[in-house]
Amino acid sequence: MEKTEIFGIQFDNVTLSEAAELAMSYVEKGEQALAVTPNAEIMQASLDDENVKKALLSAEIVLPDGEGVVWAAKKLGSPLKQKVAGVEFGMECARICAEKGYSMFLLGGREGVAENAAKKLCFLYPKLNIIGVENGYFKKDGAENEALTDRINKSGTDVLYVCLGAPAQEKWVYQNRKKLKSVRLIACLGGSLDIYAGTAKRAPRLFISLRLEWLYRLLRQPSRAKRMTNLPRFMISVYKYKRKLKKNEV
Ligand code: UDP
Repeated sequence: MEKTEIFGIQFDNVTLSEAAELAMSYVEKGEQALAVTPNAEIMQASLDDENVKKALLSAEIVLPDGEGVVWAAKKLGSPLKQKVAGVEFGMECARICAEKGYSMFLLGGREGVAENAAKKLCFLYPKLNIIGVENGYFKKDGAENEALTDRINKSGTDVLYVCLGAPAQEKWVYQNRKKLKSVRLIACLGGSLDIYAGTAKRAPRLFISLRLEWLYRLLRQPSRAKRMTNLPRFMISVYKYKRKLKKNEV
């Protein structure tokens, strides 16, 4: 599989359907894979926080969730085929799970969100077998965390969606992955459960086609402003990285 490297992170250069097929190939083989979908904010966070970088590096599948990452790949001379949004990747994997009979566990969101997301996904794909749901507001260490990882592992789920927001979800998986041995595919999908459940909306098509999804999210949720300062910082980092690449310094 062709890869595109940005800041040392190897992105899979795939279309949406290739990404879902790749992810499902691990389930079929009975091997475990972690899929992450970093956007520009998280890529910048990987430069600022070694733990974020480690978590991203531990993933078998890395998909570019955002025009910022697609732009960066082009600037660095190895363009990606397309943006693969986590929310669409999760939907496509759910479709294949329903078709092939793989089970799924949804983790994340406020109370009731994972249940509603499960209902909506099962409405779209009636054969989908969602064997567990849990909200994302649990203590991320200690007994409560142990009980949850134990429950997920014992559920025997093939696929686990972890939707705790980035980069907290990647860090949580990095720390807990070894306790989730029986899970085949672990996918970190940010706010996707809110979208499936209908508690949050994706940007209208016009915003997406103008590549302004980030602006829509900022307008709806101004509290994102602080983390969005990572966007211009990311652009500067890409230019710096390009200079280093030219000088063979990386
Ligand atoms: N969330 C959670 N547990 C937490 C913190 C956040 O389950 O401890 C959920 C939150 O309810 C929301 C998602 O994580 O459903 C984060 O959504 P956002 O759109 O911010 O995600 P992003 O894709 O931008 O990381």
